[in-house]
Amino acid sequence: MIIAVDGPTASGKGSISRQLAKHFQLPLMDTGLLYRAVGWMVVQMGGDPDKEEDALKGCIFDGGLLDDPVLRSEGIGGYASKVSVHPAVRMALDKRQRDFAYQTGGAVLDGRDIGTVIAPDADAKLFVTASADARAVRRFDEMIGRGEMVNFDDILADILKRDERDSNRSTAPLKPAEDADLLDTTDLTIGDAVQRAIAMVNAKISGRHNKDPA
Ligand code: C5P
Repeated sequence: MIIAVDGPTASGKGSISRQLAKHFQLPLMDTGLLYRAVGWMVVQMGGDPDKEEDALKGCIFDGGLLDDPVLRSEGIGGYASKVSVHPAVRMALDKRQRDFAYQTGGAVLDGRDIGTVIAPDADAKLFVTASADARAVRRFDEMIGRGEMVNFDDILADILKRDERDSNRSTAPLKPAEDADLLDTTDLTIGDAVQRAIAMVNAKISGRHNKDPA
């Protein structure tokens, strides 16, 4: 079974994906980390994430980098959003994601274009959203919790900029697949959001079984 979880930054899709993977006992890939690794590599090499040829050079990285907490910073998220605009970068990361999605037994993948591009025939597709304000509050609380000095307005502006870039790029823009279930987490606790996500996946699976000829 393949479960595709897409949505904008800080929508709750990361936590939801982790809990779905646990519940359905499937391996999980956080595909944002791949783009973050590329962004990190480009900057380390002194390249410009806005330039496709520089960004492409960043696509060769050691798998161990994906476990490095340095990738999780807001700054690297911004670079990831920049390199992810380039079609050549998306193509370079495509096979790794598809191989993961179509491994025996299935998988959960969390990203922006899983239901539309990477695994268009996924068994269940969730598009997780929340208002920009709610997402900025969550990100703010998270960063304050880590002891970082942050400004709420900067975080909100950054989220809006990333949404804009991710939604308007010409290749694989952030948008729900036509057959995705929408899950708006604005007014939900993470626990409630996870329960709804599990229910949505179960409904999709049982609907599919009911349609199968006996
Ligand atoms: O999900 P995360 O915030 O880690 O993703 C970082 C950036 O990587 C996103 O803002 C988006 O631009 C890009 N991304 C993407 N496609 C994916 C996953 C992430 O374009 N499947």
